[in-house]
Order: sequence, then structure tokens, then C-alpha cells
Amino acid sequence: MTRTTADSASAQQKARRVDSEFGHVGERAVVLGASMGGLLAARVLADFFRTVTVIERDELPDDPVNRRGVPQGRHVHSLLARGAQILEELFPGFLDELVAAGAPVWDDGELSKVYVSFSGHELPRSGTVAGDHQAMAIHMPSRPLLECHVRRRLRALENVTIHGGQDVAELTAAADGSRVTGVRRRPTGVAGGPGRGRNGPRCPYACPSREAWLWATD
Ligand SMILES: Cc1cc2nc3c(=O)[nH]c(=O)nc-3n(C[C@H](O)[C@H](O)[C@H](O)COP(=O)(O)OP(=O)(O)OC[C@H]3O[C@@H](n4cnc5c(N)ncnc54)[C@H](O)[C@@H]3O)c2cc1C
Repeated sequence: MTRTTADSASAQQKARRVDSEFGHVGERAVVLGASMGGLLAARVLADFFRTVTVIERDELPDDPVNRRGVPQGRHVHSLLARGAQILEELFPGFLDELVAAGAPVWDDGELSKVYVSFSGHELPRSGTVAGDHQAMAIHMPSRPLLECHVRRRLRALENVTIHGGQDVAELTAAADGSRVTGVRRRPTGVAGGPGRGRNGPRCPYACPSREAWLWATD
């Protein structure tokens, strides 16, 4: 796998957008939630929309810190091979960055380095796994470290904006209800909203008492 620096990776991403097979799809895409699903959706949408806006309830500092929206973030996480390959395709050089930031990687098939037990049945602790070790490499960044690096790569894209600390309060729809046209958001913690610990945006949507902005999706 060829890896590049973050700078050349950014250039590659821009080139990829220009060369996109499907070309321009729309003016603005809005992604709700900046967890792994939302972040990667935003990365793909950036190839097809003029601007992509991600709205996340939690504050999103530039550091790898745990946050409330990912309560499992303190649990051990591993990035299996296919997920790592996709991340590398979307963000060239990403895996090297993770490893440089301290993420352990198991990429030599050496069984003495891993302990795996299924219901008490342990994998052998000696020898080497057969096959292409690089292709089956397992990266083990913490969840906050993984999200943090994906956010940094996304923020480097000129047409992607990530807003933390904003609750999506409501989806707006066309008069005939045929399609969603936008979202209403407000700063996290505004009384009366669907904030932390409550359900997300409701449908049909009662107008929030204090809304901030309305964005159309196109
Ligand atoms: C204990 C545990 C261990 C796991 N280990 C692994 C692992 O090792 N490897 C692996 O690949 N997967 C692992 N997973 C699974 C993985 O964490 C989930 O599949 C993944 O988080 C799902 O991402 P998502 O983006 O779909 O949703 P979520 O992670 O649920 O993200 C939703 C986001 O939307 C935000 N949000 C919600 N409502 C609003 C609103 N109204 N306005 C604005 N923002 C809002 C939330 O704050 C959150 O950031 C694990 C899960 C658990 C529970």
C-alpha cells in the first residue's frame, strides 16, 4: 500500500473530487452527527456537493478526548482490515498517521503478540498466521484518537465544515411532505430542546421554542 503525507493526500482528495465519475450532485449536504458514520458520510459527500456541513451535539475539540455521544469510547476498539483499507482510500496516509500518533498495529501475523479467546477457547500463542499480514493488519487506535484524526482530515477539506456543540432540533420538509429540505439547529443546552439524554429530532416536528438557524439542503 502506497502512503503519502497529509499534504499530498489533501491534493489527491481535491483531484478525486474533480474527477468524480458522477460529478456535481447538489449545492449543500447536511450530515447529522459527527461519529464515525457521519464523518465518513461527509467525506464521501464532499466529492459530490459544493459544501458539506456536519452538525454534532457534542463539543468537538481538536484533541482525542472522550465525549458523551460515544459512551463506548472508553472501551477497547480495534479497526479491522477492511475498515482500515477504506479509511486509507478516503484519507491517503491515514494509517501511517494513526501509527505515528501511537496506535498499536498488528501487521506481522505473529501469534505471540495477541491473545484471543472465544468462550474460553484460546487461539494458539505461538507461530505465525498464514497469508498476507499487511492485508489483514489490525490497527488499535483508541476511539477518541480515531475520531480525532478523521475530523482533522475532514477539516482540511475546503468544502467541509464541522459544527460541534449544536443540537439538531428539527428537520424541515417540503409543503407536500415529499422530501426533507433542511434542519434547524441550536446550541447544545438550550432549554426545551431534544438535547443530551433525550431523543433526537422528532417527526412531525413541533417548532422549537428557541431555534438558531435554518439551512436548506439545496
Ligand atoms: C462497547 C462497544 C465497543 C465497540 N467496539 C468497536 C470496535 O472495536 N470496532 C468497531 O468498528 N466498532 C465498535 N463498536 C461499534 C461502533 O462504536 C458503532 O458502530 C459506531 O459508533 C456507530 O457509529 P454511528 O456514526 O452510526 O452512530 P453513533 O456513534 O451513535 O453516532 C451518533 C452521533 O450523533 C450525535 N447526535 C445524536 N443526536 C444528535 C442531535 N439531535 N443533534 C446533533 N448530533 C446528534 C451523537 O452525539 C453522536 O456523535 C463498539 C460499540 C460498543 C457499544
